[in-house]
This record gives sequence, C-alpha cells and structure tokens, in this order.
Amino acid sequence: MDLIPETPYRFRIPRHGPMRVPGIVYATRDLLPEATGDKSLEQVANVATLPGIVTASYAMPDVHWGYGFPIGGVAATDVSAGGVVSPGGVGFDISCGVRLLAARLDADRLPAVLGPLMDTLGHTVPRGLHHGGTWQLADRAQLYDVLLGGARYAVDAGHGVPRDLARCEDAGQIRGAAPGRISTHALERGLGQLGSLGSGNHFLEVQVVDDIFDEATAAAFGLHRHQVCVLIHTGSRGLGHQVCTDYIRTMDEAMNRYGIQLPDRQLACVPVTSTAGQAYLGAMAAATNFARANRQLLTETARRAFERHTGAELDLVYDVSHNLATIEHHELDGQWRRLCVHRKGATRALPPHHPDLPAELAATGQPTLIPGTMGTASHVLAGVAGSPAFHSTCHGAGRTRSRHAAAREVDGQRLRDDLESRGIAVRGTSWRSLAEETPTAYKDVDAVVDAAEGAGLCRKVARLVPVGVVKG
Ligand code: 5GP
Ligand code: MN
Ligand code: MN
Repeated sequence: MDLIPETPYRFRIPRHGPMRVPGIVYATRDLLPEATGDKSLEQVANVATLPGIVTASYAMPDVHWGYGFPIGGVAATDVSAGGVVSPGGVGFDISCGVRLLAARLDADRLPAVLGPLMDTLGHTVPRGLHHGGTWQLADRAQLYDVLLGGARYAVDAGHGVPRDLARCEDAGQIRGAAPGRISTHALERGLGQLGSLGSGNHFLEVQVVDDIFDEATAAAFGLHRHQVCVLIHTGSRGLGHQVCTDYIRTMDEAMNRYGIQLPDRQLACVPVTSTAGQAYLGAMAAATNFARANRQLLTETARRAFERHTGAELDLVYDVSHNLATIEHHELDGQWRRLCVHRKGATRALPPHHPDLPAELAATGQPTLIPGTMGTASHVLAGVAGSPAFHSTCHGAGRTRSRHAAAREVDGQRLRDDLESRGIAVRGTSWRSLAEETPTAYKDVDAVVDAAEGAGLCRKVARLVPVGVVKG
C-alpha cells in the first residue's frame, strides 16, 4: 500500500479501489504499525470505504489492529448524506475510558502508607473473574435509572459530589439513551457489575506527577509537581460487550437492505437515520451511561481507601471516553454538517472556548488522558485550536504485541518482581493477565504523545509515573 509522507508527523494513504476518502495517519516513521508487522493501515483504508464518510479515515499515533476498524481510528460520516454508524467503529467496550483524580497529597507522604493503601485498593476494587460490583442494584428498574442517568444518577444517589459532574464529558450523562434497545441478556450481564474494573487492560493506578509542561494549564486542571493522583481505566463491562455483539449481528443482517458493500464484514454498519442505526445509538448511549456510572463508583472506592490511609481527598480532574460514536456538528468547506464521529481507541480533545467545555476550562481546552503502561509514564494533554481529525487525539501507548504473544514471551511473576523492585506496587489478578500487559507489549508512550503534539492534535500538560497498580 502507498504511504506518502507529508510532514514528519503525517502520512497519506491515497484513495484507491473502493476508498471514498484518503487515509491520514498521524505518526512518526518509527511509530508506524508496519514496523512491528501490524496490518492496521489496511484497516484504515477499509474504513475509508464506509458510505457517507467525510474528509478522511484517520489513524492516531497509537494505531494498531482491531476488530474491523483499527484501534486508534477516527471516522466521521455525514448523517444527512447516507452516513453510516458501525458498532465496530466504537468497539466492544462501549465508552471504555479513563478518569484522573488528583489527591490533595504530595508524594513525600506516600512511602509510609503505600503498602496498606494498595492492599485496601486491592481488596476493595472488584476485578478480574470476580463479577460482583460495589453497588448492588435492586432490580432492572434501577439499572434503567443508571442507563439513563449515568454518573449523574450515581452522584444523586450519594456516590460522589456534584463537582464531579462538571468534570465529566456530557456532565456525566449522555443524552439519547434508550435502555429498551438493550437485550435482556446484556441487561443481565450488567446487573451485578456496576462498580467493577474488569479484566486485563483495565486498571486503577496510583501515580505521581513527575513533570509539568505547562504550569498554568496544569494549575487550571488542579495538578502540580509531586502530586499524588489516581488513574482509573474501565468501561461498560459485560453489558457494553453484549450490546456490541448484538448489534453487529443485527447490522450484518440488515446491511443488504441498504445495498451496503464492504471489504470486511467486521465493518458491518447501517445508515445513522435507519431504524437499526437509531436503535444502536440509543443502546450505545445507555451503555455509555453505565460506563460513566461505573467509573464514578470506582472513584468512590478510591476515595474511601485514601480517606482511610491518608485522610486526603481526591478531586476529579476529568473523565473521558475513548470508545464512542457521537453526533456532532463540524464545519466542512464552509458548511456546518451533522456528523457521526466514531472514535475507537481515540479521545475527544475539544479546543479552548468550545461550547461543550465547563466554564472553568474554557481557556485551557479539554483535558485528555493518555495511559501508558503500568511500568512507564502516562500523560495529561489539552485540546488545541485548529486541530484536524474532528478534535481527536490518541488514547494510549498502543499495542505492538498481541496479548497472546506477550503472555508467551513474559513471565508474570518475574514482571511483578521487576516492577516492585522499581518502586511500583502491584496488585494483580493472575500471572497470565499481568504478563499480557507487560510494558514491552506497548509503544513508547512519550514518543506517541510527542507525535500527537507534533501533528497538532493536542498539547502536553503533565506527565505522571506509576507507584502502584491494581490490575484487572
Ligand atoms: P485500551 O483501551 O486500548 O485497552 O488501553 C488503552 C491504553 O491503556 C493502552 O494503549 C495502554 O497504553 C494503556 N495501559 C494498559 N495497561 C495499563 C496500565 O496498567 N497502566 C497504565 N498507566 N496504562 C496502561
Ligand atoms: Mn476497555
Ligand atoms: Mn480502554
């Protein structure tokens, strides 16, 4: 496949075959997926064939192979021009995302309390094969309240403080949720899992701010050097996974009716305005509210552990989803258009003064959170004016090795010992799932965020390093 370098941070896949728009890859040469034998740029080209796609099929610097769509991909379709929505463009973990909490505590206080703090977090964060969540919902009616109300419902029920909602996308509650569009099986999977981490790649990590790139913005976000933070990564659990599974099947069957032909069945999609398209978006929004309530519940678990061992409060910096499709208005060639923007393993990064930002962050742009690995750094970024790709940036370091390959090459026990010897307390679930998440299975997160900044997608604000990780 042709890949034309246009700047040190941007490559173009020219239109060929059934592609309706070009592919644009934001990366440095070293970060390109081919370097590790990953074929995700073919997926970028496949996505460019979707009906109604506008501008380009985009890849972020953390791009890697995914189901149909690449992870680290952004694609927008024009709703009024037959544009489609595709569950594979959102991913199985609907509204998977990250939430950063800033402790009113500095790192010099940590050594005395870190072990017991991590023990408490290890015992109280439900994860891995333990299916129970921290909030036992009474019945399906209460689950509907969560699916409609998201983090707002959790806060109203006493799980958090009102200020938390100002620091969530959509104030913690996305509109358009239609719980009635979710299958009974998906509802059953969600009932017992609210307030749980899930497996493998999900984590709750205690971190320390080790570098600040923009003091004023960091201060506006509530961050300073040597501050203790907590980063939570989880999503919509079995409920979201089942919604995705259900609608891939529905769309695979419905597609013919709309005459949609695709190079890969995993891209199954229907027009946004169709019955199936609207049903999926309603179910997806409900799963998104579940994910946001889930992160809100785990926030409470972290707060209780910090209260007990340090007395320090945790303030929410921001909560972002990195697997989502949203209906947004964007200006293209001088015209405002209603687009369905798919971000799969990609994060929204609103520029300063965007109307959807909370007033206190209007001047800085949206905080965007980029986890690295349990053995390397994570980053806080901010949205910038004039960014391409519908105000989007990367979502992580991005894999270079499959879980399977990582588990074959790395011994989980030795990895734990290595991390502990570097001052990172590990509370894992199994040796295998720890090995699957070895830092060596990921790209260099510092290089990824430098590329994202170089490409004009966002700017760097702060860098955090891990001191303790509770792994799914
Ligand atoms: P995903 O949502 O694609 O599963 O994961 C997002 C990103 O999280 C990955 O690309 C990786 O960079 C990061 N990540 C995975 N495990 C950990 C961890 O234990 N700690 C941190 N800080 N980041 C992680
Ligand atoms: Mn996830
Ligand atoms: Mn995720």
